[in-house]
Amino acid sequence: MLVKMNNSCGTQPIETLKAQPRSADTTSIVWFRDDLRLTDNSALAAAAAEGNVVALYVVEDPNLTGVRALGGASNWWLDQSLRDLATRLDAFGIPLLTEHGDPRLALPQLANDLNATFVTWSERYHEPQRSIDAAVKERLETLGIPAHEFPGHLLLQPWSISNGQGNPYKVFTPFGKKLKELLDESADPAVPTQLGPNFPLSGTGSSLDDSLSNIDALNLVPSGSQWPDGLQSRWTPGEVGAQEQFQRFITTLLNNSEGKGYAEGRDIPALKVTSELSPHLRFGEISPRFIWHSITRASLAPQDSKSFLSELMWRDFAWHRLFHRPDLATANVRAEFNHFDWLWDSENNVSITDHDTTDPRTRPLSKKARHQLPVTEADQFEKALIAWRAGTTGIPLVDAGMRELWATGHMHNRVRMLVASFLTKNLGIHWRHGEAWFWQTLVDADPASNAFNWQWAAGCGDDASPYFRIFNPEVQAKKFDPDGIYLSRWVPELNSPDYPQPLVDLKESRTAALEEYDRIKSL
Ligand code: FAD
Repeated sequence: MLVKMNNSCGTQPIETLKAQPRSADTTSIVWFRDDLRLTDNSALAAAAAEGNVVALYVVEDPNLTGVRALGGASNWWLDQSLRDLATRLDAFGIPLLTEHGDPRLALPQLANDLNATFVTWSERYHEPQRSIDAAVKERLETLGIPAHEFPGHLLLQPWSISNGQGNPYKVFTPFGKKLKELLDESADPAVPTQLGPNFPLSGTGSSLDDSLSNIDALNLVPSGSQWPDGLQSRWTPGEVGAQEQFQRFITTLLNNSEGKGYAEGRDIPALKVTSELSPHLRFGEISPRFIWHSITRASLAPQDSKSFLSELMWRDFAWHRLFHRPDLATANVRAEFNHFDWLWDSENNVSITDHDTTDPRTRPLSKKARHQLPVTEADQFEKALIAWRAGTTGIPLVDAGMRELWATGHMHNRVRMLVASFLTKNLGIHWRHGEAWFWQTLVDADPASNAFNWQWAAGCGDDASPYFRIFNPEVQAKKFDPDGIYLSRWVPELNSPDYPQPLVDLKESRTAALEEYDRIKSL
């Protein structure tokens, strides 16, 4: 039976709660992070088993914690997702408290103030988050409050899978094979297939208005923010949106309503065949375990299930690699690429906030980079970076992808691979500029998948696309958008004089990239 508690202590800035008389009942705190859901959330279930639940979300201050600040599009998503979570928790009388700061201080303080007896959270797999979690746990334990971590963000914990020699995997195919074997062995019938918690859940009493005004106070989406309208019309962040999107995906495949299944259609950007679950997975609004089990039980064409589950395993692989290579977003995995003469401006750190009202796409190079490069080269670099971000390179499929990204916070996977190859190989710009731009503009910007895939596309990562595989945008367009539907959707002026001339000659830039690769190989 689901227990709904009425508002008993009012809510809820942490400050307000401190002043409340302590409840005689035991109180557990669930520290929500990238697991913004009620369904298949072991941390929430464990807390519920111990007593009344209070939920907390902390926006970790980068200056205090070293945690990378979310990009603009991700902040929009987080804001919406927290509102959805607050509403769903409120139905059980659970307040959602929110803080901006350092969890190493916020958690122990709240636990102490609430006289909490139990704290739970879902595990994280990267740094500095893991060190922060360990420090929180230690401080809670010195207060005599047990803290428990639960898996939930991945199909399997990154450390629970290793090769015959006990080492981490660096290549996807054997990793995927092993992961599937382990999952098949451990098929868990307890995984819920319905929306909603399958355990009794009660809170200390809540007021949704208070929870929502706390989220307002986080100011995640400042006024004048670049995207709200475009993103709002495209996405429904939150657990309900995630579940609906998942059902739509399965129904599309079952009815073959796009005329092609997932395996065949997933490379065609004009179709709506892929799941578009990536931002929901990123923020943990739906669990990968839930998806895995639901897909294996659905009557989909075997090639579609197999292909989709393989993509889901790539997500785990990216996290496996990040767990073992915490510097994945900043350092080339293959050291020979440290000598590659990529164009690089270490100070061009785009951060999309309200403080800078200029169009971030047209942000110029820093003075430092200008000093380091000959004038013509600096001019070309700046022009190329801006054109790439703005979708005005004169290479239609690249421009279509970059415009889709800016307008919707998403880009089709095939086009992501293409724009990444174009930036790093045809334009000779460092992959970190691409990673940083995606981090700001993708609603699914993910610490593991983004870094891993940029290194994959640039040729310097684990199991990377070989450097000499340089995508030809014209061939890609003919093959994957033969009727030009995707192109005309995003580049309507394509055949008019308004459309720019190509920024680079594809053949010449390809040759130059291969020569540079030959140079570093022979060092
Ligand atoms: P589907 O085809 O429906 O796949 C299902 C799920 O599998 C996805 O939601 C995603 O969680 C996972 N997945 C699919 N492809 C990959 C992949 N190549 N690597 C890891 N996981 C995958 N994905 C992100 O989630 N966040 C990122 O920041 C991100 N950055 C990328 C950067 C580049 C340069 C490239 C080439 C790819 C990137 N991807 C990223 C992977 C992929 O493009 C997206 O996951 C996919 O386009 C999301 O659409 P979908 O949900 O419809 O995918």
